[in-house]
Amino acid sequence: MDLDRHDFELDDLVEKIKQNDNRLIALQVPEGLKMQALEMMDEIETETSAKVVLAADPCYGACDLVHDKMKMMGVELVAHMGHSQMNIDSGMPTEFIDVKYEGDPKLDPVLGILKSHLSMAKERIASQEDVASLSESQAQDRFMDAVGRLAPLTDTKLGLVGSIQHLHLLPDFHERLEKYGFDVTIPIGGARLSFPGQVLGCNYSGDDPSIGHYLFLGSGDFHPIGLVLHTGKPLAMLDPYSGSAEEMSFERIERILRQRFGLIMSSMECNSFGILIGEKPGQMRRTLALRMKRILEKHGKKGYLLALEHIGPDLIDFYPVDAFVNTACPRIAIDDAVRYMKPLITPFELEVALGEKKWETGYMFDEIP
Ligand code: SF4
Repeated sequence: MDLDRHDFELDDLVEKIKQNDNRLIALQVPEGLKMQALEMMDEIETETSAKVVLAADPCYGACDLVHDKMKMMGVELVAHMGHSQMNIDSGMPTEFIDVKYEGDPKLDPVLGILKSHLSMAKERIASQEDVASLSESQAQDRFMDAVGRLAPLTDTKLGLVGSIQHLHLLPDFHERLEKYGFDVTIPIGGARLSFPGQVLGCNYSGDDPSIGHYLFLGSGDFHPIGLVLHTGKPLAMLDPYSGSAEEMSFERIERILRQRFGLIMSSMECNSFGILIGEKPGQMRRTLALRMKRILEKHGKKGYLLALEHIGPDLIDFYPVDAFVNTACPRIAIDDAVRYMKPLITPFELEVALGEKKWETGYMFDEIP
């Protein structure tokens, strides 16, 4: 990551601290920016009369806001950096600080991929099938087909999305891509998202049937994997740091879907489940966890509710249950399943295992709304 070209917008925060006359504030920064945290703490302490404590636990999103533990320490304000506000209340006054990356990647490396994805979207519109008459094994094949679950398309627009530090580049990219002949839309999602074009690892709510393919502006494959699992649509990635372009391979998504299929099949025989509830403010899905317990009971199985702040193999593997259902961050089950000794599945996957949901709906990503 090219940290010199990141703009950490601390001025508003400094003003706010001065206005409030805060004495103790907490700074929370994402993992990729922790190296810069001490520099930021120095700057805030030099510019204001507040002392700064770094919330040094891992932080992967605005779902993970500093909450009441810091209140007990006397923290008056939380400065949360690099993520945007979600539809949650952590119980602490929180300032969200933007981090922008001032890159200007060229479009040339990605144009070929976008053209081939547009043709793919046009072919799909022309060959949409009816799923009502599928046999059980055809329905299972459809479940594992990376594109098989695609909801009917109404158009082949290019959806332009990005990770938070690159979102300010989207309007300019919109214009440039339209000059190349693409019909571009910047999707607007639900209450968990703050900005047009924004996607999270757990929320792609801006997707709609008029979008036939995607361009993601950002680095890494965390968001792209979730977006393709969720939508089944072709996705190109343009990395503003390196300027390089690639596509998210459907083979990779199919490997994940085959793994999910295997975990569902093994969960069918399980009788007792640990139901994981995340304690982080933006991951806590208590109602969903209770619904999972009720569904398990309806099928004559046991469900034990386990609440955790952090979830990892050492913290749950030893419980004498046959499998786990995760209602915290959905990516724990999807991205880390191989680290656990027992099946770790999502609520949707449990419903499929119990026969409450059908294979032919295709795979449904566990989105947090
Ligand atoms: S993907 Fe997980 S860590 Fe990221 S915002 Fe969503 S719940 Fe939080």
